[in-house]
Amino acid sequence: MTVPIAKLSFWGVRGSTPTVDPATWRYGGNTPCLELIAPDGTQFILDCGTGLRMLGSRWAAPNGGKTAETHILVTHYHWDHIQGIPFFSPLYVENNEFHFYSFRSKFLGRDSLKQVFEAQMAMPYFPVDMSAMSAKRKFKEVDGGDSLKVGENKITAQWLNHPQGCLGFRIETPAGTVAYATDNEPGDAKLDENLRELAAGADIFINDAQFTPEQLETTRKGWGHSSWLEGAKVARQAGAKTLVLFHHDPDSTDRMVDAILRQAREEFDSVFAASEGMVVTLGAPGDRVQAHMPGTRTALRREAQFHAKVRGVTEGGKDFEEETMVRDISLQGALISLKHMPRLQSELQVTMEAPGADGVQTMKLRGYVVRIDAGAEKGHSAVGVVFTD
Ligand SMILES: [Zn+2]
Ligand SMILES: [Zn+2]
Repeated sequence: MTVPIAKLSFWGVRGSTPTVDPATWRYGGNTPCLELIAPDGTQFILDCGTGLRMLGSRWAAPNGGKTAETHILVTHYHWDHIQGIPFFSPLYVENNEFHFYSFRSKFLGRDSLKQVFEAQMAMPYFPVDMSAMSAKRKFKEVDGGDSLKVGENKITAQWLNHPQGCLGFRIETPAGTVAYATDNEPGDAKLDENLRELAAGADIFINDAQFTPEQLETTRKGWGHSSWLEGAKVARQAGAKTLVLFHHDPDSTDRMVDAILRQAREEFDSVFAASEGMVVTLGAPGDRVQAHMPGTRTALRREAQFHAKVRGVTEGGKDFEEETMVRDISLQGALISLKHMPRLQSELQVTMEAPGADGVQTMKLRGYVVRIDAGAEKGHSAVGVVFTD
């Protein structure tokens, strides 16, 4: 018997507007886009922020089939959730077929999402017109409370509290349930109840965590977003197993998101802060939710010092090469071979020796366990750690 496994990939996790500030590299600057591959091979895309472009450039047609069908759920029409559409290259390939799901906006009327496509690519906003998009596109309207089946999977939509409306989606697959609740603010009894229904018993509950609890009570009240504390509260009330903090504020640096994550982990056992490139598997043996973090991304870190050779071009156009010390560099995480089996999601202290200007220095890092695999060495486990400071 094969175990059903679903794979959830995060292509964009930033709210409101993309960021390219180096202080936001580690969690990533693309706006919302997720991909869920269900055990039956059905491919879902959740939202079409700028992360969609990255997904398109690494496109693998679902099932490798001749007509590749993909189901795209769009939560609402704010820029950060639709801005990747014109840059999604698979839309320009004839054999592809896309089924779009979204609600009828009272501001747009019938075929709201279709109108969004046309408006985004209208002159003088975009150089290429709609006729270049040769993939088949089908549009389906969904309303809060609607349920539908796609393959073996059940999708339920619920209204959330957000200016001009936003849908949350719950996707139940044979490997587990994902609740996607971006862009929502607590404080409306009926819509708060909808959020709990979406998250009820979910294996993964992805929630808006744009603001701090203090901001949410004061300067950002009424802006349509939530906090890590509200997410933890709802996750507990709804019996969700893992909370994913999502839609990070464009002004939140990696270190600020680290701090948010640390606080959230004191309130709820299993929390991740969504980061671009993160892949979560559901239904893997042992029935645990496991996350795999992007390993190549580097981030700023004060303690490390590495001897480096730097090559470049000067302002005057001359090539140069020089030796220097790089003082701000580190990896986001590490894979560590351990005899002991640490608890998933538990905290680890990692002390490393790093070469410095004054000899070898000790580098202390705090992180948490996101993944445990059988190690290459007998009796060892390969433990994936993400550093939080
Ligand atoms: Zn948003
Ligand atoms: Zn929004």
